[in-house]
Amino acid sequence: MKVSDTMQQLLWYGPEDLRLDQVATPKPGLGEVLVKIGAATTCGTDFKTFKRGHPRLIKKIPAPFGHEMSGTIVSLGEGVKSFKLHQRVVVGNSAPCGKCFYCQKDSPSLCEDLLFLNGAYSEYLLVPARIVEKNLHPIPKDLDFATASLSEPLACVLNAMEKINPKPGEKLLLLGAGPMGVLFVQLAKLYGVELIALARDPKKLANLKALGAQEVISLSQDANPLDKARALLNQGRGADLVIEAVGLPETWEMAVNLARPGGKVCFYGGCAQGTQVQLDTYRLHYEELQLFGVFHHTPRLFKKAVQLLSEGKIKAEGLVVGKIPLRDYEKVFVKGLQSHPLKYAVIP
Ligand SMILES: [Zn+2]
Ligand SMILES: [Zn+2]
Repeated sequence: MKVSDTMQQLLWYGPEDLRLDQVATPKPGLGEVLVKIGAATTCGTDFKTFKRGHPRLIKKIPAPFGHEMSGTIVSLGEGVKSFKLHQRVVVGNSAPCGKCFYCQKDSPSLCEDLLFLNGAYSEYLLVPARIVEKNLHPIPKDLDFATASLSEPLACVLNAMEKINPKPGEKLLLLGAGPMGVLFVQLAKLYGVELIALARDPKKLANLKALGAQEVISLSQDANPLDKARALLNQGRGADLVIEAVGLPETWEMAVNLARPGGKVCFYGGCAQGTQVQLDTYRLHYEELQLFGVFHHTPRLFKKAVQLLSEGKIKAEGLVVGKIPLRDYEKVFVKGLQSHPLKYAVIP
């Protein structure tokens, strides 16, 4: 596979200003590898970043864009021993330092020096040594690139599921029906829990139902949706487990309200910085609620995600709705498809 001297790369120049530039193809240095992108999947984070930037992902302008990616190794830097030329890989979009306070406490998603990698929407991607060492994963021949790229969001969803630690037969209430919902529905089946989804959009909910959600309730179409949800949850007591996957203060509060005494509430959807919510202390104390947030993923979870996708236990159906060439990026990002509920695979 011949590597061209220049490549197309999608760059973020500012809010709603993306440009496909022709830039020099990077050459891998010590411990680095160059990957020819096979597919990059779009993500809610991309749409948010496209519109308003990102406090953690965008450091300087113009900034490379996209973070769910897989492809083929086309060039190896000096000292890379664990990978081969032409190997198909999925590229983790971060790697913890392994040395800081939180890494030492085995909380690598809280790493004080978490290295992020963006630039999935590009012909080639230079993978830094730390990611090569900690979060680059070979993929089997029969796993297509678009599906492999779902390892990133799946790793985030696994992070939530591991912290929730559901027991078979428990009732899990999912708030939200976006792409993450599709992954939560599939994982819930693997864990043997009954998932009930509560969200606004009936079309997205129908998609979750088709993928195996026990019951779906629309906040915009069903009469008394909250009563309906309660009736399905432990005879009105509330859900054993609640996942908030929307990221709005009103759904954070709803999540707490719909948990049963002793129930667990996982805040998966991040709200805008500075957001505050109101909590009923009676419920927290006397009803022994357990509330916690989850953020991002870790190399261990990323590896587990790659494995689940490789084994076909989690599928891309119902999630990746189409493929578009990189030069047509405007169709997804600029021309109003931003609100599309699911994912596209962008192919250079
Ligand atoms: Zn993502
Ligand atoms: Zn660290």
